Amino acid sequence: MQCQTVLPGAECTFWGKQGCAFTEGSCQPIVENCEGCDRIVESSIGKVCGAYPAPEKKWAAGICNFATHVKVDIKTDDAKINPLKASKKAAGAKKKK
Ligand code: SF4
Repeated sequence: MQCQTVLPGAECTFWGKQGCAFTEGSCQPIVENCEGCDRIVESSIGKVCGAYPAPEKKWAAGICNFATHVKVDIKTDDAKINPLKASKKAAGAKKKK
């Protein structure tokens, strides 16, 4: 249903016949870590997240997985793997079946 308070007219899964079903009955404002994210939207209570109603929780356990302004560097050991050996190893594994 459409939100009637913080983001009037915006489709929201938390809005129902009883109003907003989210904790404290409303979206929460963005936190400092959100600054620069494309998902920030202006609302009747200031800046909120258009993707998740509780930005503080999104950052509680590390980087927000919805963030558009933060890149996560995933380090792999790909450089150490010889592609030819890896290919032969994979082919050998298939033959053993
Ligand atoms: S997607 Fe994450 S970083 Fe972006 S505004 Fe929402 S909570 Fe903040």
